[in-house]
Amino acid sequence: MSPSRSAAGDQPAPDAALDPAGRVDWLREQIRSHDRAYYELDAPVIPDADYDLLVRELRSIEADHPDLVTPDSPTQRVAGVASSQFAPVQHRTRMMSLDNAMDAGELRAWGERTRRRLDELGLPDTVRYVCELKIDGLAMSLRYESGRLVLAATRGDGRTGEDVTANVGRIEAVPAELTGDAPEVLEVRGEIYLPLEAFARLRARTEAENLQAEAAGRRPRPLPANPRNAGAGSLRQKDPEVTGSRGLALWAYQLGEVVGVEPPPTHSGALDLLAGLGLPVNPETRSCSSLDEVYEFCAHWVEHRHELPYEIDGVVVKVDDLSVQAALGATSKAPRWAIAYKLPPEERTTQLLEIQVSIGRTGKATPFAVMEPVFVGGSTVSMATLHNEDQVRLKDVRPGDTVVVRKAGDVIPEVVGPVLEFRPADLPEWRFPTDCPSCGRPLVRPEGEAQHLCVNPDCPQKRWAAVCHFASRGAMDIEGLGEQQVQLFMDLGLLADVADVYSLDYDRIGELRGYGEKAIDNLRAAVEASRSRPLARLLFGLNITHLGQAGADTLAGALGSLDAIATASLEDLSAVDGIGPVIAESVHSWFADPGHQQLVARLVAAGVNTDGPERSVLPQTLAGLSVVVTGTLPGYSREQAEAAIKSRGGKSPGSVSKRTTALVVGDEPGASKVTKAEQLGIPVLDQLGFEHLLETGELQAEGTS
Ligand code: NAD
Repeated sequence: MSPSRSAAGDQPAPDAALDPAGRVDWLREQIRSHDRAYYELDAPVIPDADYDLLVRELRSIEADHPDLVTPDSPTQRVAGVASSQFAPVQHRTRMMSLDNAMDAGELRAWGERTRRRLDELGLPDTVRYVCELKIDGLAMSLRYESGRLVLAATRGDGRTGEDVTANVGRIEAVPAELTGDAPEVLEVRGEIYLPLEAFARLRARTEAENLQAEAAGRRPRPLPANPRNAGAGSLRQKDPEVTGSRGLALWAYQLGEVVGVEPPPTHSGALDLLAGLGLPVNPETRSCSSLDEVYEFCAHWVEHRHELPYEIDGVVVKVDDLSVQAALGATSKAPRWAIAYKLPPEERTTQLLEIQVSIGRTGKATPFAVMEPVFVGGSTVSMATLHNEDQVRLKDVRPGDTVVVRKAGDVIPEVVGPVLEFRPADLPEWRFPTDCPSCGRPLVRPEGEAQHLCVNPDCPQKRWAAVCHFASRGAMDIEGLGEQQVQLFMDLGLLADVADVYSLDYDRIGELRGYGEKAIDNLRAAVEASRSRPLARLLFGLNITHLGQAGADTLAGALGSLDAIATASLEDLSAVDGIGPVIAESVHSWFADPGHQQLVARLVAAGVNTDGPERSVLPQTLAGLSVVVTGTLPGYSREQAEAAIKSRGGKSPGSVSKRTTALVVGDEPGASKVTKAEQLGIPVLDQLGFEHLLETGELQAEGTS
């Protein structure tokens, strides 16, 4: 969103072109107010990326108008203050901020500036760099005297921090005593952070406490929004016991004051020294001799950041030689010998334009946010599901709100919540529609459920979604019958339900634009081919609530025919291994519906395959084994590889766990599966290893790694 937004009711922001001084004042005021929320209250109002845009704009106007630069501008000093909650501590060496680079060009520009400065100083301009992960936590200065932790201080404004020794003393990950030959004085800088697992625990605990609070009529507490703020909040607690209970951790990344030993000549040497004294030093650190190598490291972590068990927001690049660092010096805010390469933001703000409701194939009514498009997490996002009425209420998002959107890695985008400070006055709450947006009939919210349903069997949207699903890849796989074609055929009255797929009027279709003889032949052949799909695909294609692909597979395998499934009692269905009571009930009531019985009869008359899988004649070499497949192997699609495993008695779940026998890796594998397998010591197979396993049930030495 444009960084011209200020709190609701405020004056509109001055325009930089017309009134640069006014814009500068406005930006400074905004930045200071966000600094207070972030550093003092651990409760930022806007995402970091939005804040960074404000700072960048200020820096750029100041660069164009040097007369507007003042010593107290946020571009000139370390943001943050030492709150009065803790005693003040004067830092002996200043704790600084970092300048940042948003892309390869800015990284190179920093490299150029460094080289020029070294030239000016008459120093050699060949530089070694150390790349480290930029941990998204809270900067900390730890002072050890004769090996014992005597002081822990936050950064504050860089000169004066807060004394949080009592709290830090309760964090197990921070050594109270150094190991080995500790110097007389050792000051170490590091980042205190909340690992993702500890963050998830904290969220779960807050959710459970909120349920109790609500039952007792008390107000629920806001859920911790992200690990950085939850970590900072956990550290700056009044009660050190609470800090100790949160599972905070530390990565040490820099040497401060040292007395009693000669400090090493390089930063990498300093990291080795810290590690040798028992301080946790991040292993994902690389020494590089060129900016190309540095950039490679940054690009790697743009791709792989989500494989870490903690959050990072960038890579910090530091000049390795400490004497060169000293020569390069610092500005009033940040050292010149380091730069933070920022990873693309995963949270941004945008405008919530409206909330619409879509009707799914089983009639489920799902609200979703329609937003001003925003580039976040590597793609442009303009829609995100809001799941159900309770979620909308809990998040309290309203059309007209500025909302925070999060998109992390491959995860679908999420509306985190509104920026209440920006909410226009009297913005009405959103209400779930009472009627189906497609057919206009009342929506029903069954007792005890979070979902609204359209129960009208003739609802056009529901029918459309049901036919699309039936024809989709995972079900009957009818190429040429995608969402648009289904809509077109429905609009023309050629198609009303899934059974109509087998009585399409090809003469009429032939009259449509874009349907030549070849297209008709292809469609006819695709429909014909779908008649012989396995029973499990047909079952999955029928749109039975809760019955997914795995459940359909299990039922087809266990009961063997559509007739047997349709006539099975609830007890028979529940007795099938792998079918829970919810699915059993749903399947049973689906087949009990006379409308569905007619539909099934029409499908049977159309000649679809209704018999279950033939008993496999293959040797059951993989009985009891669990083999996960990722990527494609020559000669096998992923589905074919999974089918090959199952037909030999094995299981092929979608994720790696301790129970996995082996991971088969083809082209373009999922990185997280490979990493997990490596972490758990699970054999990784290539195609040869896989084929050997299929044949013999044994892991072959040369096919594994
Ligand atoms: P910075 O966070 O960009 O860089 C400096 C900090 O990086 C250090 O203080 C240290 O804590 C940290 N760091 C992590 N790993 C490190 C490593 N390996 N080596 C060295 N340092 C490492 O700069 P800043 O001035 O401290 O803060 C600005 C950050 O805070 C930005 O990300 C900004 O978006 C965020 N912020 C957000 C808001 C908001 O309203 N959302 C407000 C204020 C600040």
